[in-house]
Amino acid sequence: MPIDPTLPYDDNNIFARILRGEIPSTPVYEDEWAFAFEDINPQSPVHTLVIPKGKYVSWDDFSAKASAEEIAGFIRAVGHVAREKGLVEPGYRLLAKIGAHGGQEVPHLHVHILGGQFIGPMVMAR
Ligand code: 5GP
Repeated sequence: MPIDPTLPYDDNNIFARILRGEIPSTPVYEDEWAFAFEDINPQSPVHTLVIPKGKYVSWDDFSAKASAEEIAGFIRAVGHVAREKGLVEPGYRLLAKIGAHGGQEVPHLHVHILGGQFIGPMVMAR
């Protein structure tokens, strides 16, 4: 079910629990600002999720409320993970879903890094 983006941050969402180490994940990268781990249901040969360590529901919440340091740290982490995965050539896709129309399911901001093959059309055929 897509999330309701007007709800406050849920401390027990699945990614908050992964960040706290309560639920196992396959870690890829971690620093002061971000944590990256493999998606449990990969949609491409590389499918890694990057999340900020701060409590932000979505890109909307993050872009409005996060500090400049948090934003820089998170964005640098996304780029770093993609480089470390060897995706820069021949390229990759970033995806962030926001709210119901975006199809967001987990209410903690996450960017999908998708690569390892051509990712296909920008949106599902209508
Ligand atoms: P969304 O649709 O919210 O952008 O993406 C949520 C993503 O989280 C999905 O791609 C889904 O496969 C992934 N996911 C959901 N639960 C878990 C989990 O417990 N562990 C991991 N590693 N990924 C998860």
